[in-house]
Amino acid sequence: MSDFAKERTLVMVKPDGVQRSLIGEIIKRYESIGLKLVATKMVVPTPEHIEAHYTLDPEWRRITGEKTIAAYKKRGKEAPSDDPLEITAVILKNLMTYMSSGPVVAMVWQGAHAVEIVRKITGGTEPLTSDVGSIRGDYVLDSYQMSDVDGRAVRNLVHASGSVEEADMEIKHWFDTNELVDYRLINEAMLYDVNLDGIKE
Ligand code: GDP
Ligand code: MG
Repeated sequence: MSDFAKERTLVMVKPDGVQRSLIGEIIKRYESIGLKLVATKMVVPTPEHIEAHYTLDPEWRRITGEKTIAAYKKRGKEAPSDDPLEITAVILKNLMTYMSSGPVVAMVWQGAHAVEIVRKITGGTEPLTSDVGSIRGDYVLDSYQMSDVDGRAVRNLVHASGSVEEADMEIKHWFDTNELVDYRLINEAMLYDVNLDGIKE
């Protein structure tokens, strides 16, 4: 099997996904495309574990702050601060409350282009503008505007790693090495075998 098939990404059904009874529907989407589930567990995260998760990349605070300021501008609104780090401090506090409010289901999915494929199926961060057909586009209706007015994190059902580097860090943050299962899936032959020579009797 080619090394492409070994890419891994971290997915988490967030507390709202669990409470809305969407665990099965969300897993189905990643499973149906051909990805392989190699680890999963349900946990109630501590706020500290969530803070560490979002700040695994030391640049996350700055990048997210800048992205949020740009999103305000795009809506023709003034951001509450022009300091990206001040903006992110509020976002992070809200995320810590949201993500530790109940159980989440953490998973590792493996397969060709796993990171990009999962992001595509998951959809853009803000449900209001996520594509129709994506998980966030189909199953939830939240917006930055509404969540900002209410002073809470945007409820977007799922977390998915944004890059291969982020995935590597996040998988280590949520799983011990011995919780990741190496196994063969019958489907993989159809997805990755070069000659398809095992079908005919
Ligand atoms: P994701 O990878 O699609 O979840 O998005 P990011 O990694 O960029 O952001 C992580 C989380 O930060 C999101 O799930 C949101 O809760 C929050 N966030 C990101 N950008 C914005 C924004 O522009 N406004 C607000 N209110 N929250 C944001
Ligand atoms: Mg992200």
